[in-house]
Amino acid sequence: MANKFYITTAIDYVNAKPHIGHAYEKILTDVLARWNRFSGKDTFFLTGTDENAQKNAQVAKEKNIPTEKFVEDNSKHFEELCKTLNLSNDDFIKTTQERHVKVAQEIFQKIYDSGDIYKKSYAGNYCVGCEAFLTERDLVEGKCPEHNKKPELIEEENYFFKLSKYEDKILKLCSSDNFIVPAGFRKEIVNRIKSDGLKDISVSRPGLEWGIDTPIDKGHKIYVWIDALSNYISALGYPNGAKYKKYWPAEIHVVGKGINWFHSVIWPAILMSAKIPLPKQILVHGYVTFNGKKISKSLGNAIDPNDVVPKYGVDQFRYTMIKEVPFNQDGDFSENSLKDRTNNELANDLGNLLSRTLSLCEKYFDGKLTKQKDDDLFKRLNLEKIEKHISNYELHLALDEIWSFIRSANKYVNDNEPWKNEENREVVLYNLLESLRISSLLLSSFMPETSEKINAQLGIKLGNIKDVKFGIIDKYIVKKGDILFNKIE
Ligand SMILES: [Zn+2]
Repeated sequence: MANKFYITTAIDYVNAKPHIGHAYEKILTDVLARWNRFSGKDTFFLTGTDENAQKNAQVAKEKNIPTEKFVEDNSKHFEELCKTLNLSNDDFIKTTQERHVKVAQEIFQKIYDSGDIYKKSYAGNYCVGCEAFLTERDLVEGKCPEHNKKPELIEEENYFFKLSKYEDKILKLCSSDNFIVPAGFRKEIVNRIKSDGLKDISVSRPGLEWGIDTPIDKGHKIYVWIDALSNYISALGYPNGAKYKKYWPAEIHVVGKGINWFHSVIWPAILMSAKIPLPKQILVHGYVTFNGKKISKSLGNAIDPNDVVPKYGVDQFRYTMIKEVPFNQDGDFSENSLKDRTNNELANDLGNLLSRTLSLCEKYFDGKLTKQKDDDLFKRLNLEKIEKHISNYELHLALDEIWSFIRSANKYVNDNEPWKNEENREVVLYNLLESLRISSLLLSSFMPETSEKINAQLGIKLGNIKDVKFGIIDKYIVKKGDILFNKIE
């Protein structure tokens, strides 16, 4: 199955509403999923929610709501977010679903059967936010740096997974060129394995009410990783489902840098122990700040994208996110950058190109144009470069390259002045229509709604990457519609 592409986001905790950091990971993943579909790959895109986490139960208790209801209500906000962001996800997994519970238990059992699970008493620093025991080296000034909280000292009997047994294999895997990208995040993991080694990890918690029972001991719940990470295969119907057989292993797990270790080290070791093929790549992204500030509840800027995206416009939001947050760095999303990009790049460069071209087509040809010769405008398009940027996950640079073509088309109108020059007017306008059709194709993964709007005005249907060439439309019948992007004051 060389021609398949399985991509996932991490699953989100549902202890609070989504914020724009969640939106970024989903948009990044959606662009890659759409581009691979557009390029002819049989694509499956999975996202979902982590509902068994103790912190869900904890917040529910604080709010005095039954955990089931709290989780169900909050999960809806994440499902809604998929629609708000116009994601093309093929499934949405919730880890309370029966299809997931039985797979998580099956994986636990397989690891137990491999002889990789044992019971021991354990005392450690437990961060409820991370749902993890933290080592001294994880702490900054005695606190969890992710949650800025002092961990609790907990002592209990747990089942442990022999992660240490897989140290050599995991080090080799993580050192390979393409498993963890980009390279900076790979080095972090490799250095940590080399300096600290792999220590066995707790995979159960005793005496909890919320979560999935371990199959070997009903007094213990499966503790986070075997449960949460197995969503990537439970959603496909592991072990016998047709989707599992078709799509696993995943081409890419997209994750934030905070959970790189769990995906690059713990997940492959779980799979090795359960004798399941490994995912091909862990794509790690940085964090998003909002208006220059870290997103946090206490700063009151953890805005729900479901509330604000409709106000901005979904494609304006998607475009700004991709441009402002290069995937291998942290980035900032601000309302000012959204405004500037909407007014200049989207409204002036792209929106005006469409509206002025269609006005001229309607004025001089009643909207009907037949195929004309190639006027060399397409020499300005570098599809190879765009593809290369996308395969390097430099989505912002891919957009820059598409914009360079759109700007060439604008320059071409100005240079040729089809409102003055009657002689080659139809050639110029046909070439412009083709440039709009091709821009719309190339943008369809980034701004799917905008592509649909452009195509409706051009009177064509969206094709695929094979249609990114000059002259495949014999006759255009165009109709000018609403402007693509309203300027923001
Ligand atoms: Zn923490």
